[in-house]
Amino acid sequence: MRLESEVSRWAKSGMPPHPCWRDPKGAEKAFCSFGSLWRRRCGMARLQDRVAIVTGAGSGIGLAITKRFIEEGAKVVAADVSEASLGRLQEGSDLTPEVADVTVQEDVDGLVAAALRLGGLDIVCNNAGIMDRFLPVGEVTDDVWQRVLAVNLTGPMMLSRAALPYLLKARRGVIINTASVGGFSGGKAGAAYTASKHGLIGLTRNIAATYGRDGIRCVAIAPGAVSTGISIGGEPSKRGYATLEKTLASIPRAGEAVEIANLAVFLASDEASFLNGAVVTADAGWTVL
Ligand code: NAD
Repeated sequence: MRLESEVSRWAKSGMPPHPCWRDPKGAEKAFCSFGSLWRRRCGMARLQDRVAIVTGAGSGIGLAITKRFIEEGAKVVAADVSEASLGRLQEGSDLTPEVADVTVQEDVDGLVAAALRLGGLDIVCNNAGIMDRFLPVGEVTDDVWQRVLAVNLTGPMMLSRAALPYLLKARRGVIINTASVGGFSGGKAGAAYTASKHGLIGLTRNIAATYGRDGIRCVAIAPGAVSTGISIGGEPSKRGYATLEKTLASIPRAGEAVEIANLAVFLASDEASFLNGAVVTADAGWTVL
């Protein structure tokens, strides 16, 4: 079905079919990564000409989202607090790297301004996040609590707040928050991380409920364990880690960052037009065991 509509779109565009089609067994390959470049060249990519802000874009999931968004035709403001990690991305007409701390209002406003310079603002990915050494409430310090809440929860609120006037004016837009399976279960991280991701899911639902009627969708992704370089944040708590360890044995497998990025592409695209307030778990079934 999807294949048929793709073929008819190619035919209507007057472009030659994707090269994989010369191979009779190649139908599935029409959706290989070259396929998305081909669709982009034909002006048919899934995020064609959309402008996105991605935070935490210098590594892991944010880096993968940035790359996939660009493959799908988007222009991306790639934001990260780490200038060194942003060096992995090459500035171009479809990519503006911005050193920014999501907890600093001036930096957040700068991201929105950078998006507007690229032509508008359609997609906000609140992805930057930090961990908390699995510190349970009896061990957490004020510093860790405040920093984790600031980056994982207050930052997404600030960027969403800064973006909203432009999304409201356009009467369309998508906010995608990277939550976690720790956003709906208690034993996957420390107290601060768990509270921040529960809060982020609440923020997602509140934005969805309040602004859905204005054409704005807000959704969250709840990844399980994903192979990235995310730091635990320091020496892990023995008590906190022991709690996590009980469920680690049942992880079917760790995910790859691109598997989360593929989901973000779908959620950002018009294919997800009926999704608002949804929290999509991506964990190979870890949390249903
Ligand atoms: P990562 O450490 O590879 O990437 C996070 C990026 O965020 C880093 O480049 C870091 O420099 C940046 N960052 C940190 N603080 C920032 C700030 N104040 N302002 C701007 N940028 C900042 O981690 P990742 O695994 O890709 O995590 C991305 C998101 O996914 C996080 O929100 C994390 O909580 C969530 N998540 C990750 C996993 C996992 O297993 N990796 C699981 C569930 C949820």
